Amino acid sequence: MSAEIIDGKAIAAALRQRIAKAVSQLQENHNLTPGLAVVLVGEDAASQVYVRNKGIATKEAGMVSLEFRLPADTSQEALLEKVRELNNDPSVHGILVQFPVPEQISQQAVIDTISPDKDVDGLHPQNAGRLVSGLPALTPCTPTGSVILAKQTLGDLTGKHAVVIGRSNLVGKPVAQLLLNENCTVTMAHSRTKDLAAVCRQADILVAAVGIAEMVQGDWIKPGACVIDVGINRVAGAEAGKTRLVGDVDFAAASAIAGHITPVPGGVGPMTIACLLRNTVTAACRLAGLDEIEI
Ligand code: NAD
Repeated sequence: MSAEIIDGKAIAAALRQRIAKAVSQLQENHNLTPGLAVVLVGEDAASQVYVRNKGIATKEAGMVSLEFRLPADTSQEALLEKVRELNNDPSVHGILVQFPVPEQISQQAVIDTISPDKDVDGLHPQNAGRLVSGLPALTPCTPTGSVILAKQTLGDLTGKHAVVIGRSNLVGKPVAQLLLNENCTVTMAHSRTKDLAAVCRQADILVAAVGIAEMVQGDWIKPGACVIDVGINRVAGAEAGKTRLVGDVDFAAASAIAGHITPVPGGVGPMTIACLLRNTVTAACRLAGLDEIEI
Protein backbone atom coordinates (compact mmCIF):
# COMPACT_ATOMS: atom_id res chain seq x y z
CA MET A 1 0.00 0.00 0.00
CA SER A 2 1.21 3.50 -0.71
CA ALA A 3 -0.27 6.50 1.07
CA GLU A 4 -1.96 9.33 -0.76
CA ILE A 5 0.09 12.50 -0.37
CA ILE A 6 -1.84 15.40 1.16
CA ASP A 7 -1.00 18.40 -1.02
CA GLY A 8 -0.74 21.20 1.53
CA LYS A 9 0.56 23.59 -1.09
CA ALA A 10 -2.56 23.21 -3.25
CA ILE A 11 -4.96 23.25 -0.28
CA ALA A 12 -3.27 26.41 1.07
CA ALA A 13 -3.40 28.08 -2.37
CA ALA A 14 -7.14 27.38 -2.62
CA LEU A 15 -7.64 28.76 0.91
CA ARG A 16 -5.69 31.93 0.03
CA GLN A 17 -7.93 32.37 -3.02
CA ARG A 18 -11.07 32.15 -0.85
CA ILE A 19 -9.48 34.66 1.54
CA ALA A 20 -8.80 37.09 -1.33
CA LYS A 21 -12.46 36.78 -2.34
CA ALA A 22 -13.58 37.53 1.21
CA VAL A 23 -11.27 40.57 1.32
CA SER A 24 -12.73 41.99 -1.88
CA GLN A 25 -16.26 41.43 -0.48
CA LEU A 26 -15.30 43.37 2.65
CA GLN A 27 -13.89 46.18 0.53
CA GLU A 28 -16.92 46.36 -1.77
CA ASN A 29 -19.63 45.98 0.85
CA HIS A 30 -18.08 47.67 3.88
CA ASN A 31 -15.14 49.73 2.62
CA LEU A 32 -12.96 47.65 4.97
CA THR A 33 -9.47 46.44 4.09
CA PRO A 34 -8.00 44.09 6.70
CA GLY A 35 -4.51 45.09 7.83
CA LEU A 36 -1.80 42.84 9.26
CA ALA A 37 1.16 44.32 11.16
CA VAL A 38 4.25 42.17 11.54
CA VAL A 39 7.01 43.18 13.93
CA LEU A 40 10.51 41.74 13.62
CA VAL A 41 13.14 42.39 16.26
CA GLY A 42 16.73 41.71 15.21
CA GLU A 43 18.36 40.18 12.16
CA ASP A 44 17.61 36.44 12.44
CA ALA A 45 17.95 35.14 8.87
CA ALA A 46 15.11 32.59 9.02
CA SER A 47 12.77 35.16 10.64
CA GLN A 48 13.52 37.66 7.89
CA VAL A 49 12.45 35.11 5.27
CA TYR A 50 9.24 34.28 7.21
CA VAL A 51 8.37 37.98 7.60
CA ARG A 52 8.99 38.68 3.92
CA ASN A 53 6.81 35.72 2.88
CA LYS A 54 4.02 36.81 5.20
CA GLY A 55 4.14 40.34 3.71
CA ILE A 56 3.96 39.00 0.14
CA ALA A 57 1.02 36.68 0.93
CA THR A 58 -0.83 39.46 2.78
CA LYS A 59 -0.58 41.81 -0.20
CA GLU A 60 -1.49 39.04 -2.66
CA ALA A 61 -4.71 38.50 -0.70
CA GLY A 62 -5.53 42.21 -1.15
CA MET A 63 -4.85 43.17 2.46
CA VAL A 64 -2.65 45.90 3.88
CA SER A 65 0.74 44.64 5.07
CA LEU A 66 2.68 46.72 7.58
CA GLU A 67 6.20 45.70 8.56
CA PHE A 68 8.15 47.08 11.49
CA ARG A 69 11.80 46.14 11.89
CA LEU A 70 13.37 46.97 15.23
CA PRO A 71 17.07 46.60 16.12
CA ALA A 72 18.29 43.51 18.01
CA ASP A 73 19.03 45.58 21.15
CA THR A 74 15.43 46.88 21.42
CA SER A 75 14.29 46.87 25.05
CA GLN A 76 11.24 44.93 26.15
CA GLU A 77 9.45 48.17 27.07
CA ALA A 78 10.13 49.68 23.62
CA LEU A 79 8.69 46.57 21.92
CA LEU A 80 5.64 46.50 24.21
CA GLU A 81 5.09 50.21 23.48
CA LYS A 82 5.11 49.42 19.74
CA VAL A 83 2.57 46.63 20.36
CA ARG A 84 0.31 49.00 22.36
CA GLU A 85 0.52 51.55 19.55
CA LEU A 86 -0.64 48.86 17.07
CA ASN A 87 -3.38 47.75 19.51
CA ASN A 88 -4.74 51.31 19.28
CA ASP A 89 -4.35 51.71 15.49
CA PRO A 90 -7.76 51.22 13.83
CA SER A 91 -6.19 50.34 10.45
CA VAL A 92 -4.47 47.30 12.04
CA HIS A 93 -6.64 44.21 12.58
CA GLY A 94 -3.94 41.63 13.19
CA ILE A 95 -0.63 41.89 15.05
CA LEU A 96 2.15 39.35 14.83
CA VAL A 97 5.49 39.64 16.61
CA GLN A 98 7.87 37.23 14.92
CA PHE A 99 9.38 34.77 17.42
CA PRO A 100 11.97 34.10 18.69
CA VAL A 101 12.61 37.56 20.16
CA PRO A 102 16.08 38.49 21.53
CA GLU A 103 16.78 37.21 25.04
CA GLN A 104 16.27 40.57 26.83
CA ILE A 105 12.57 40.34 25.86
CA SER A 106 10.08 37.96 27.46
CA GLN A 107 8.03 36.17 24.80
CA GLN A 108 5.15 35.77 27.25
CA ALA A 109 5.14 39.52 28.00
CA VAL A 110 4.73 40.17 24.27
CA ILE A 111 1.92 37.60 23.97
CA ASP A 112 0.14 39.10 26.99
CA THR A 113 0.36 42.66 25.60
CA ILE A 114 -1.13 42.00 22.16
CA SER A 115 -4.84 42.78 22.21
CA PRO A 116 -6.71 39.42 22.19
CA ASP A 117 -8.92 40.87 19.42
CA LYS A 118 -5.86 41.36 17.17
CA ASP A 119 -3.95 38.26 18.30
CA VAL A 120 -3.81 36.51 14.91
CA ASP A 121 -1.21 34.04 16.23
CA GLY A 122 -3.88 32.86 18.70
CA LEU A 123 -1.38 32.64 21.55
CA HIS A 124 -2.89 35.11 24.06
CA PRO A 125 -4.14 33.26 27.17
CA GLN A 126 -7.61 34.70 26.51
CA ASN A 127 -7.75 33.07 23.06
CA ALA A 128 -6.25 29.82 24.41
CA GLY A 129 -8.89 29.80 27.16
CA ARG A 130 -11.70 30.58 24.73
CA LEU A 131 -10.58 27.70 22.50
CA VAL A 132 -10.66 25.31 25.47
CA SER A 133 -14.09 26.66 26.49
CA GLY A 134 -15.51 26.14 23.01
CA LEU A 135 -16.04 29.89 22.50
CA PRO A 136 -15.19 31.80 19.31
CA ALA A 137 -11.45 32.47 19.38
CA LEU A 138 -8.53 33.33 17.16
CA THR A 139 -6.80 29.94 17.01
CA PRO A 140 -3.09 29.27 16.39
CA CYS A 141 -2.25 29.06 12.69
CA THR A 142 -0.24 25.84 12.32
CA PRO A 143 -2.71 23.76 14.41
CA THR A 144 -5.66 25.24 12.51
CA GLY A 145 -3.95 24.42 9.21
CA SER A 146 -3.22 20.87 10.37
CA VAL A 147 -6.87 20.23 11.23
CA ILE A 148 -8.06 21.74 7.93
CA LEU A 149 -5.78 19.26 6.12
CA ALA A 150 -7.22 16.34 8.12
CA LYS A 151 -10.80 17.47 7.45
CA GLN A 152 -10.25 18.03 3.74
CA THR A 153 -8.69 14.56 3.52
CA LEU A 154 -11.06 12.54 5.71
CA GLY A 155 -14.25 14.61 5.86
CA ASP A 156 -16.07 14.39 9.20
CA LEU A 157 -13.57 13.50 11.94
CA THR A 158 -16.20 12.45 14.50
CA GLY A 159 -15.19 9.44 16.58
CA LYS A 160 -11.72 9.11 15.09
CA HIS A 161 -8.89 8.43 17.50
CA ALA A 162 -6.34 11.22 17.15
CA VAL A 163 -2.92 10.94 18.76
CA VAL A 164 -0.97 14.19 19.05
CA ILE A 165 2.75 13.92 19.84
CA GLY A 166 3.93 17.16 21.47
CA ARG A 167 2.29 19.42 24.03
CA SER A 168 3.61 22.90 23.25
CA ASN A 169 1.35 25.94 23.54
CA LEU A 170 2.19 26.73 19.92
CA VAL A 171 1.24 23.40 18.32
CA GLY A 172 0.49 20.32 20.44
CA LYS A 173 -2.06 21.69 22.91
CA PRO A 174 -4.12 23.73 20.43
CA VAL A 175 -4.12 20.99 17.79
CA ALA A 176 -5.43 18.52 20.40
CA GLN A 177 -8.12 21.01 21.42
CA LEU A 178 -9.17 21.66 17.82
CA LEU A 179 -9.42 17.90 17.19
CA LEU A 180 -11.53 17.53 20.32
CA ASN A 181 -13.82 20.24 18.92
CA GLU A 182 -14.14 18.05 15.81
CA ASN A 183 -15.38 15.23 18.08
CA CYS A 184 -12.21 13.15 17.89
CA THR A 185 -11.10 10.99 20.79
CA VAL A 186 -7.78 12.64 21.54
CA THR A 187 -4.65 11.23 23.16
CA MET A 188 -1.82 13.66 23.91
CA ALA A 189 1.62 12.09 23.91
CA HIS A 190 4.86 13.83 24.88
CA SER A 191 8.44 13.30 26.01
CA ARG A 192 7.36 11.39 29.15
CA THR A 193 4.84 9.11 27.40
CA LYS A 194 5.53 5.42 27.96
CA ASP A 195 5.66 3.13 24.90
CA LEU A 196 5.03 5.93 22.44
CA ALA A 197 5.06 3.50 19.50
CA ALA A 198 2.12 1.53 20.94
CA VAL A 199 0.18 4.75 21.63
CA CYS A 200 0.77 5.95 18.06
CA ARG A 201 -0.36 2.61 16.61
CA GLN A 202 -3.86 3.35 17.94
CA ALA A 203 -4.16 6.54 15.89
CA ASP A 204 -6.59 6.99 13.03
CA ILE A 205 -5.06 10.48 12.83
CA LEU A 206 -1.46 10.91 13.96
CA VAL A 207 -0.16 14.46 14.41
CA ALA A 208 3.58 14.71 15.02
CA ALA A 209 4.78 18.04 16.47
CA VAL A 210 8.03 17.22 18.22
CA GLY A 211 11.02 18.66 16.41
CA ILE A 212 13.04 15.42 16.16
CA ALA A 213 13.93 14.42 12.60
CA GLU A 214 12.16 11.26 11.40
CA MET A 215 11.44 10.06 14.94
CA VAL A 216 8.13 8.38 14.06
CA GLN A 217 8.89 5.02 12.48
CA GLY A 218 6.86 3.17 9.88
CA ASP A 219 5.78 0.46 12.34
CA TRP A 220 4.31 3.13 14.67
CA ILE A 221 1.62 3.81 12.08
CA LYS A 222 -1.77 2.07 12.06
CA PRO A 223 -2.44 0.76 8.53
CA GLY A 224 -4.51 3.33 6.64
CA ALA A 225 -3.99 6.14 9.19
CA CYS A 226 -3.88 9.83 8.28
CA VAL A 227 -0.46 11.23 9.23
CA ILE A 228 -0.03 14.98 9.71
CA ASP A 229 3.66 15.81 10.09
CA VAL A 230 4.14 19.28 11.61
CA GLY A 231 7.88 18.90 12.22
CA ILE A 232 10.42 20.96 10.31
CA ASN A 233 13.96 19.71 10.84
CA ARG A 234 17.08 20.56 8.89
CA VAL A 235 19.43 17.61 8.35
CA ALA A 236 22.56 16.98 6.28
CA GLY A 237 21.76 16.43 2.61
CA ALA A 238 23.15 13.81 0.22
CA GLU A 239 25.75 16.28 -1.14
CA ALA A 240 28.50 17.52 1.17
CA GLY A 241 27.70 20.92 2.70
CA LYS A 242 24.03 20.80 1.60
CA THR A 243 21.08 20.45 3.95
CA ARG A 244 17.48 19.35 3.43
CA LEU A 245 14.24 19.58 5.39
CA VAL A 246 12.57 16.54 6.91
CA GLY A 247 9.60 16.11 9.22
CA ASP A 248 9.18 14.27 12.50
CA VAL A 249 8.00 11.19 10.59
CA ASP A 250 10.11 8.77 8.56
CA PHE A 251 8.22 9.64 5.38
CA ALA A 252 9.34 6.73 3.17
CA ALA A 253 8.55 4.08 5.78
CA ALA A 254 5.31 5.70 6.96
CA SER A 255 3.92 6.24 3.48
CA ALA A 256 4.13 2.49 2.84
CA ILE A 257 1.61 1.94 5.67
CA ALA A 258 -0.46 5.13 6.12
CA GLY A 259 -3.56 5.93 4.08
CA HIS A 260 -2.73 9.64 3.78
CA ILE A 261 0.38 11.60 4.73
CA THR A 262 1.63 15.18 4.56
CA PRO A 263 5.06 15.70 2.98
CA VAL A 264 7.74 17.99 4.43
CA PRO A 265 8.08 20.48 2.88
CA GLY A 266 4.76 21.13 1.15
CA GLY A 267 2.36 19.77 3.77
CA VAL A 268 1.48 21.67 6.93
CA GLY A 269 3.99 24.49 6.30
CA PRO A 270 2.05 26.36 3.57
CA MET A 271 -1.13 26.19 5.67
CA THR A 272 0.38 28.35 8.43
CA ILE A 273 0.50 31.61 6.46
CA ALA A 274 -2.89 30.92 4.87
CA CYS A 275 -4.43 30.52 8.35
CA LEU A 276 -2.71 33.72 9.50
CA LEU A 277 -4.45 35.59 6.68
CA ARG A 278 -7.74 33.88 7.55
CA ASN A 279 -7.39 34.97 11.18
CA THR A 280 -6.72 38.55 10.04
CA VAL A 281 -9.98 38.59 8.04
CA THR A 282 -11.85 37.10 11.02
CA ALA A 283 -10.34 39.70 13.36
CA ALA A 284 -11.22 42.53 10.96
CA CYS A 285 -14.87 41.35 10.77
CA ARG A 286 -15.17 41.05 14.56
CA LEU A 287 -13.51 44.42 15.23
CA ALA A 288 -15.87 46.09 12.73
CA GLY A 289 -18.90 44.37 14.31
CA LEU A 290 -19.68 42.50 11.08
CA ASP A 291 -20.86 38.92 10.67
CA GLU A 292 -17.91 36.64 10.10
CA ILE A 293 -17.32 35.40 6.57
CA GLU A 294 -17.09 31.60 6.40
CA ILE A 295 -13.82 30.85 4.61
P1 NAD B 1 8.47 22.45 21.18
O1 NAD B 1 9.93 22.14 21.29
O2 NAD B 1 7.92 23.64 21.85
O3 NAD B 1 7.63 21.19 21.68
C1 NAD B 1 8.01 19.88 21.34
C2 NAD B 1 7.11 18.89 22.06
O4 NAD B 1 7.57 17.59 21.70
C3 NAD B 1 7.17 18.98 23.57
O5 NAD B 1 5.86 19.14 24.06
C4 NAD B 1 7.75 17.66 24.05
O6 NAD B 1 7.04 17.10 25.14
C5 NAD B 1 7.58 16.77 22.86
N1 NAD B 1 8.72 15.84 22.77
C6 NAD B 1 10.03 16.13 22.83
N2 NAD B 1 10.77 15.01 22.73
C7 NAD B 1 9.91 13.99 22.61
C8 NAD B 1 10.05 12.59 22.48
N3 NAD B 1 11.25 12.01 22.44
N4 NAD B 1 8.94 11.85 22.40
C9 NAD B 1 7.71 12.41 22.43
N5 NAD B 1 7.51 13.75 22.53
C10 NAD B 1 8.59 14.52 22.63
O7 NAD B 1 8.19 22.49 19.59
P2 NAD B 1 6.93 23.13 18.79
O8 NAD B 1 7.07 24.60 18.74
O9 NAD B 1 5.66 22.50 19.26
O10 NAD B 1 7.25 22.58 17.33
C11 NAD B 1 7.27 21.21 17.02
C12 NAD B 1 7.77 21.00 15.61
O11 NAD B 1 6.89 21.63 14.71
C13 NAD B 1 9.16 21.60 15.31
O12 NAD B 1 9.83 20.77 14.40
C14 NAD B 1 8.83 22.91 14.66
O13 NAD B 1 9.85 23.35 13.77
C15 NAD B 1 7.59 22.54 13.89
N6 NAD B 1 6.70 23.67 13.58
C16 NAD B 1 6.26 23.78 12.31
C17 NAD B 1 5.42 24.81 11.95
C18 NAD B 1 4.92 24.89 10.54
O14 NAD B 1 4.55 25.95 10.07
N7 NAD B 1 4.85 23.78 9.84
C19 NAD B 1 5.03 25.75 12.90
C20 NAD B 1 5.45 25.59 14.22
C21 NAD B 1 6.29 24.54 14.54
